[in-house]
Amino acid sequence: MTMRIGHGYDVHRLVEGRKLILGGADIPHTLGLLGHSDADVLTHALADALLGALALGDIGRHFPDSDPKYAGISSLLLLKEVCALMRGRGYRLENADCTVIAQAPKLAPFLPEMMKNLCDVLGCSDDCLNIKATTEEHLGFTGRGEGIAAHAVVLLRSEE
Ligand code: MG
Repeated sequence: MTMRIGHGYDVHRLVEGRKLILGGADIPHTLGLLGHSDADVLTHALADALLGALALGDIGRHFPDSDPKYAGISSLLLLKEVCALMRGRGYRLENADCTVIAQAPKLAPFLPEMMKNLCDVLGCSDDCLNIKATTEEHLGFTGRGEGIAAHAVVLLRSEE
């Protein structure tokens, strides 16, 4: 049995005229995240952590933002493809821990929906995934509300 660890980090800028999608949840807010896909920064960090654990680079390499087929795409679909890569290499998720850093809006009410969306895609039970949300005490770009950042750490276990 082999275990592999991976880390993912992502940032997207908050702008007017975009939806705010985090963990596949559509969150009411005056601003949304800018990006080629739906800019779901949490799902991107998680996918990057999985790719990192598999030594397969990052989501920019697998889903280039120059490719029109990924324009506006739900990042849950990208995560699904990454999970298929993971299973194809004989690994499954042992657990994942994620932190979203956002000054606003309050994310706690939406954590159950994010959990459900991500657990469904990962094919894991809710005791394998943890999502935390924190502000950055008005410090830095997240604290000024200019963007949202997310970190993810995953542990994978080989299936034999
Ligand atoms: Mg991203």
